[in-house]
Amino acid sequence: MLTSPGPNYNYDVEEVVKAYEKAIDAILRELERIDLTNFQRANALATLKSISEILAELNDEAGKLAQIKVEKAATDGIIRALITLEVVATAAEAEKIVAFNRLNKEMVAAAVADTQADLLAVTQNVEKKVRAAVRQATAEAMRNNLPRGINTSDPIRRAILADLRKTLGDSVNTGIIDAAGRRWKPTTYVDVLVRTKMMQAHKEATINEAVHRGAVYGIISKHGAKDACRNYEGKIVKLDRSADGSYPYIYDLPKREIFHPFCKHVVSPFRRIDRLPDGLKQLNKI
Ligand SMILES: [Zn+2]
Repeated sequence: MLTSPGPNYNYDVEEVVKAYEKAIDAILRELERIDLTNFQRANALATLKSISEILAELNDEAGKLAQIKVEKAATDGIIRALITLEVVATAAEAEKIVAFNRLNKEMVAAAVADTQADLLAVTQNVEKKVRAAVRQATAEAMRNNLPRGINTSDPIRRAILADLRKTLGDSVNTGIIDAAGRRWKPTTYVDVLVRTKMMQAHKEATINEAVHRGAVYGIISKHGAKDACRNYEGKIVKLDRSADGSYPYIYDLPKREIFHPFCKHVVSPFRRIDRLPDGLKQLNKI
C-alpha cells in the first residue's frame, strides 16, 4: 500500500479540456461566419460580442470545474493518508471521515484560486488574439477592396481571402507562452495545468493530513517510472523539515526530477521507520 501508484486524473483533465475545445469550436464557427467579401463594421462587432459571450461562459464553467477537481484531488490525498496511517482500513471508510483540516482548507482555497487565475489567463489570451485577428482581417479586407469586388473568382482575391481565413483560424489555436518561453496550444496548456494542479493538491493534502496527525515521514509511490523520478520510487522523505534522520524534506526535492508537470508520483505517510517492510528498508539502506 505504501508504494501503490497514485490516482489517474485523465478523465477529470479531459472534462476541463473538453470545455475549452467546445468554446474554441464555437469561436471558430463565429469566425467562419464573417463574410469578408460582404461585411460592415457592425458585423465584426457582433462577432466579437458573440465571442466574448462564449468566453465568459467558458470562464464560468472552467472556474467551477477547477474548484471541483482541486477539491477532489485533495480529498483523494487525505484518503491516502488515512489509509496508510491505518486510521481506517478501506477507502470507503476513509471517505466517511475525510475532512479538510485548517492547513488543507487554506491550501485548497489557494490552489483553487491559482488554478482559476491560470485558466482565466488562457481565455483572456485567446480573446486578445482573436480580437486582434478580427481587426486585422477586416482592415486587410477593406484595404484590398474585398467587399467592393464583384469577381470573387479572381485568384489574387481568393488568395488574400484564404490568408485572412487562416489568420482568423490560427488566432484561436496558438499563443499561450509559458514562463519558460515555450508556446502552447490553449487546450494542451489547460491539460498540463489542470493535471499538475490536481497532483500537487493531492500531494499537499496528504502531507498536511499526515503532519496534522503527527506522522512526519513519507514514501514516494512506485509505478515503474522511466524518467528522473525513478530514482525516488520507494524512497523515504521527511514531511516535516525538523523530523529526525538524513532523509530529504519533500518540498526540497528538485522539481526537475520529481513532482514535475505530468509527474504521476504521490506520497504515502507513515509513522515509524523501524516498522517499514524489509524491502523498503533495504531500498533505503536501513
Ligand atoms: Zn514522477
